[in-house]
Amino acid sequence: MNAKLDSTVTTRPVTRQTFDEVLVPTYAPAAMVPVRAAGLDLWDQNGKHYLDFTSGIAVTALGHCNPLVVEALTKQANTLWHLGNGYTNEPVLRLACALTEATFADRAFFCNSGAEANEAALKLARKHAHTKFGAHKSRIVSCFHSFHGRTLFTVSVGGQAKYTEGFEPLPPSIDHIPYNDIEAARSAIGDDVCAVVVEPIQGEGGVVPGDVAFLKELRALCDKTGAVLIFDEVQSGMGRTGELFAYMGCGVTPDVLTAAKALGNGYPIGAMLTTEELAKTLSVGTHGTTYGGNPLAATVALTVLDTINQPAFLARVKEASAKLVATLNQIVADYPQVFTLVRGSGLLLGMVVAEAFKGRSKDIQKAAEAQGLMVLIAGTEVLRLAPALIVSDAQIAEFDGLMRAALDSLTKAA
Ligand SMILES: *Cc1c(COP(=O)(O)O)cnc(C)c1O
Repeated sequence: MNAKLDSTVTTRPVTRQTFDEVLVPTYAPAAMVPVRAAGLDLWDQNGKHYLDFTSGIAVTALGHCNPLVVEALTKQANTLWHLGNGYTNEPVLRLACALTEATFADRAFFCNSGAEANEAALKLARKHAHTKFGAHKSRIVSCFHSFHGRTLFTVSVGGQAKYTEGFEPLPPSIDHIPYNDIEAARSAIGDDVCAVVVEPIQGEGGVVPGDVAFLKELRALCDKTGAVLIFDEVQSGMGRTGELFAYMGCGVTPDVLTAAKALGNGYPIGAMLTTEELAKTLSVGTHGTTYGGNPLAATVALTVLDTINQPAFLARVKEASAKLVATLNQIVADYPQVFTLVRGSGLLLGMVVAEAFKGRSKDIQKAAEAQGLMVLIAGTEVLRLAPALIVSDAQIAEFDGLMRAALDSLTKAA
């Protein structure tokens, strides 16, 4: 027995209360503390079982502790962990080959999170415009209610004022337009714009699908003005919509695509994918990160990509989506006082709360948790569901029962 591992440092009892004592209070986590999980099943400190329809905010797409991923990571952990950017490694080379073969992109840059992938995309767009057109072409256009991460740059580009308040001064030259508003896009995207950033489906902003006509117009405006079109697929990518990436389902190809979340199934990794021409902008020394594309993260991502990017896997995501949507529509029909409609794509779905429950998505989430069901919210007006992509028909039926029990408890209490 390793004496150090047996010390109280690693074994002392901790509870939810400990969070309030020693963590910076940026989050308000649930009252229960998960300790173990497999697939979509999860257990808390008291041994209570939960059905997980959050997948860690659209991250553990292949389920918790997926055996294939665990095996790949364990093998790599016993082989080579980390090198730094003075050396490349086999897993990252294979991952870049696989991602560029699977998408429009010719080149990949790896980092550790969605925010960092977007940071890289925005820096690339600025530098590209600076080099090719001059310093005046620096404006960035994004959408209200969008979410692009929490660094100062990405939070400023994101369209939610509550996330930038108090952090001023913010980086300048950033404009926001209403999502899906073609006229607003036309007036905002002029010759001084270097980048247009958009989520094909707004996730955090309320599970709002982008109109194909809007995305097409953004493409046309970028072509006209020489701006770089960036699709933030951190949440919508990696099979979530039933396509490997959402852009593949809407017939609009971006110049830059960012991925993270499900790419690592919970092991931190982010990627920025782009074209040969744009990639040249980030020449040696212009950008980087210590861990980006390290062998552990790259091995995991390669396993995830190889599993998800199979026709049968993606077809099953669409089939599961159709079943879950039917289940949700029936719930909306049976509980009209709680929900008004279902929206979203693939297995990223939102239930919009009705007038009587205005501002109370969190209460619905808590009622579900009491029944042993984990769900997400997207703002105060939308209950968000993002189960692992391996969700079975039996688990969709289990969800139905737990959700109805939660809604019964809420509507009877009200
Ligand atoms: C979660 C998310 C991000 C931020 O990713 P992090 O890994 O938390 O930095 C960026 N964009 C979108 C669309 C997201 O959903």
